[in-house]
Amino acid sequence: MTRKDRTEGIFSRREVLDESERKQYYLIQLKELLRYAYRYSEDVKKRFDRAQFDVNKFRELSDLKHIPILKKKELIFLQSMGPRLGGLLTKDLGELRRIFMSPGPIFDPEDRSDDYWGWTEAFYASGFRSGDIAQITFNYHMAPAGLMFEEPLRNLGCSVVPAGPGSTNTQLEIMQKLRVSGYVGTPSYLMHLAQKAEEAGHNLRKDLFLEVAFVTGEKLSEKMRSTLEKKFDMIMRQGYGTADVGCIGYECFHREGLHVANRAFVEICHPDTGIPLKDGEVGEIVVTAFNKTYPLIRLATGDLAYIDRTPCPCGRTSPRLGGIVGRVDTTARIKGMFVYPHQVEQVISKFDEIKRWQIEVTNPGGIDEMTLYVEATDFQRGDELQHMFRERIKLRPTLKVLAPGALPPNVKPIEDKRKWD
Ligand SMILES: [Zn+2]
Repeated sequence: MTRKDRTEGIFSRREVLDESERKQYYLIQLKELLRYAYRYSEDVKKRFDRAQFDVNKFRELSDLKHIPILKKKELIFLQSMGPRLGGLLTKDLGELRRIFMSPGPIFDPEDRSDDYWGWTEAFYASGFRSGDIAQITFNYHMAPAGLMFEEPLRNLGCSVVPAGPGSTNTQLEIMQKLRVSGYVGTPSYLMHLAQKAEEAGHNLRKDLFLEVAFVTGEKLSEKMRSTLEKKFDMIMRQGYGTADVGCIGYECFHREGLHVANRAFVEICHPDTGIPLKDGEVGEIVVTAFNKTYPLIRLATGDLAYIDRTPCPCGRTSPRLGGIVGRVDTTARIKGMFVYPHQVEQVISKFDEIKRWQIEVTNPGGIDEMTLYVEATDFQRGDELQHMFRERIKLRPTLKVLAPGALPPNVKPIEDKRKWD
């Protein structure tokens, strides 16, 4: 069987708009959305009025910043405020196709429009092609993940095995007997499947037929990606989205960050103020999907990334999220500086002898103090570590070396023990 070319091509012309076309496209989409949402969503009307935001005065993309951001966790409360999910929806629940429930609880409405969750271009960019047999291992029950990925695959002309999670042996049997070519799920579950298959004496390249994998839902390390790509002789690309809005970004063959989906406008904002940051600065992903049914305008996702506008060899012109680098709630602001776990990780990765680490923040007498605990045997490079830390993170921690195993398992990267009275 010859392998498909999964490296080239685009799904829609929107992916390659030039700079001025793209700006125009965003402006038109946002103008329409804001007007529609103000007219038909009670919640949007309230929010805009409170902020004295006049939809008719929206002219430039930068005007969007005058709308206050909507924190994802606010949805729990807002949705309980009355009919139409607290006025967030612009139509009645009975007019929808499906209604899911995510942790929170947060309800996730799905309208009847084509490609509602917007993942089709993402699957194409990831390398899925017509004729693929795709096995979806996400949950089909209550939460949207499983069903959310079916429609885009159907749009591309793939067939789907709605396997859902669990039953590892059955999953492997299906993969083998049906010669499944595409995997859809979390990277860690594919790793689990690979280990089980190897334990059972299978050769992953000869007995299984995976050529492409689309993963999402958890952090994909480059190490895990390359391990799995080699084991199966396939390509693995990741997508990023939420159960509220669907697709937000995806990798192309060149995997230099995640292209922002053409169904949404993304800003990277200061997590406290909601003010957009400069390109390259790390901040919270704030997304406005062009969705008139459920217009979550300026939804702050809680995920951290930065924007990269350098051209991508694939030809797609949408800006890219330079990886999802962490969560807002694992970030601490210490002495006025944001300390991101991924930045600490980058520094620590230069010191092979450090096994694990944790930052503890306290504020005796109201003054922030930061202690960096590292697990290592016979650590000699303390000065070097502190110097590098200060250079990258602009703060100098107190360093404490612990014996390996001293930190608890699943240690939180930043433990904030400050007290505010
Ligand atoms: Zn690209």
